[in-house]
Amino acid sequence: MANDSAKDRFSRRGFIGISSAALATVAGGLAVSNAMAQEGQQSGNARSDRSATDPGPSNTPLDGQNPDSTWPPGTDSKSLVPTFKYPFSFANKRAYEGGWSREVTVRELPVSKTMAGVNMRLTAGGIRELHWHTAAEWAIMLYGTARITAIDRDGKSFVADVNKNDLWYFPTGIPHSIQGLGPDGAEFMLVFDDGEFSESETVLLSDSMSHLPREVLSKNFGVPEPALKNLPKQELFIFQAAVPGPLEADQSAAAGARGKSPTDFAFRTMEMQPTKRTKSGDVRIVDSNNFKVSTTVAMAMVTVHPGGMRELHWHHNASEWQYYISGKARMTVVSTGNRARTMDFQAGDVGYVEKTLLHYIENTGDTELIFLEMFKSSFYQDLSLSQWLANTPPELVMAHLNIDKATLDTISRDELVIVPR
Ligand code: MN
Ligand code: MN
Repeated sequence: MANDSAKDRFSRRGFIGISSAALATVAGGLAVSNAMAQEGQQSGNARSDRSATDPGPSNTPLDGQNPDSTWPPGTDSKSLVPTFKYPFSFANKRAYEGGWSREVTVRELPVSKTMAGVNMRLTAGGIRELHWHTAAEWAIMLYGTARITAIDRDGKSFVADVNKNDLWYFPTGIPHSIQGLGPDGAEFMLVFDDGEFSESETVLLSDSMSHLPREVLSKNFGVPEPALKNLPKQELFIFQAAVPGPLEADQSAAAGARGKSPTDFAFRTMEMQPTKRTKSGDVRIVDSNNFKVSTTVAMAMVTVHPGGMRELHWHHNASEWQYYISGKARMTVVSTGNRARTMDFQAGDVGYVEKTLLHYIENTGDTELIFLEMFKSSFYQDLSLSQWLANTPPELVMAHLNIDKATLDTISRDELVIVPR
């Protein structure tokens, strides 16, 4: 029975491979005939020998989620490519009264050298305590409502409420806090511009106070020592507190003597129109051009409808850290030195593509695929394979790919981003 379902997946994958290649018109007729040749070869193999069977122990649910690792497409290389996927489901969770936190860094996913992600939940009233760190913090709200606070470089205060899909960015060393609001707190994804980052190694207010002699604190603040007798003796990190009142009432009270910061550390993603839209999906690009304060992190939020695909492309300026918000996808990364690998993704997974490597992301499910492409860069940049080929002298391209002029002319001269257009 296990053999039968493996074979079913095997041939279905081959069939999907044909239709997507045809839809994408990547290299036109050549891709289709290659895919058909592979399909014939795979069916032949399955009939004539037992290679495509797996009679030993297996984790069937996990295999089912990763069909392209269980039976790689014939175009994947036999030279091994290190994993570029890590599910948040595997991450070590720190649970507290008031919320939890888990992270995927270079320690969990060794290829992800430039960025790290922290997924956090705060209950209504739950506080991620006042802190700062050595990396810049970019964030997107995934659920609910939260209140963020910071103080800018001139000592002016910033307080804002954020909702689903809103972003924030706190530069290196800027102290900040996050608190869940009613009715059910918040969940969000923090992305740091350093793969080595860890949320457990930040400068915390509570931890700092507990490691300073009381007489020093007394002298520093100009208050008598007994007034400080209840200071926390260890870090709080996340803790439960009362749900704060509405922002309007709070803001005048909370704004310090220097007043409100002119810097907006938050960005309302859904208030902007998509940067590019086709019948198969859309993309919103947010970088320092429209979100001024975000000088080290750029985002593309991509939505791909069922049957659609984020077209073949690469990025010249930075590696891509991905987070899958909803739906199912597969991605092939063509590496250097004759290496390529295809992996499958679903909501909650992190993916990674090293700078300049060719890749596509195909919606393999029957629901909307939404994912983030994150870059350690002040600006977003990519190059489309189709655009490159269609704007290169035709004789040169035809000589490489053995395709005719009519096929080449079909390839889009403009970057489509999401195909079919
Ligand atoms: Mn932080
Ligand atoms: Mn990309």
